[in-house]
Amino acid sequence: MPALARNPFRGLVSLLYPAACAVCATAIEPGAQLCTRCVDDAPRLRAPFCERCSQPFAGAITDSFTCANCHDRVLHFDAAVSAYRSRGVIREVMHDFKYHGFLHLRKPLASWLGEALDDPRLAGRRFDCIIPVPLHPARERERGFNQAEILAKLLGHQVHLPVRSLLQRIRYTTTQTQFDRQERIQNLAGAFRLRRGGVVRDLRVLLVDDVLTTGSTLSECAEVLKKAGAVSVHAATVARG
Ligand SMILES: [Zn+2]
Ligand SMILES: [Zn+2]
Repeated sequence: MPALARNPFRGLVSLLYPAACAVCATAIEPGAQLCTRCVDDAPRLRAPFCERCSQPFAGAITDSFTCANCHDRVLHFDAAVSAYRSRGVIREVMHDFKYHGFLHLRKPLASWLGEALDDPRLAGRRFDCIIPVPLHPARERERGFNQAEILAKLLGHQVHLPVRSLLQRIRYTTTQTQFDRQERIQNLAGAFRLRRGGVVRDLRVLLVDDVLTTGSTLSECAEVLKKAGAVSVHAATVARG
């Protein structure tokens, strides 16, 4: 039987998702999203960086090292880890996924996210569940999906952990991108709560989000979870801003 007769939608699917790299449009294997060159170009987050918030810095670590991002405030997560910087290929793919709704790009994003779990701060650690950072319901309606939840589900499937959307965003905050660091931190106070009936007591939680910029979002979420009795809250993101 000819291939087209077996799958009448095949031609249509390849028309909708032509086998071209999502970044540079080079021809690639059907089913892939990126060419190998773009995958190799993804900017790794390289040491040295802050143990807690993964902020990279120039030079060698000295005993007196204090992280410019987190030394003057309390971050409630135990560590926030990304394998990549939010630059180049990573930023482009993330942008197309999040703002243009190219949901098929969730696969390379989830695999970059998964690489965070190889970091010594997370590797070998036991988690009871993954909790995605929530969007405000109005924002989620507007976008049509929660990018953190989609990525958390793929990661959960990959590492056999249940994904529980136990957090709620109760304040609609303006897009953080035009804010400076201090404004971002203040803008988020009290923005999250535990979903009614949500129980996290004694749980070791892995929080998941797409990008960490200052760590305020993850910290606010971690504070809510720890106040509700979570034993530990680590975070993994696709990229570090
Ligand atoms: Zn490419
Ligand atoms: Zn730091």
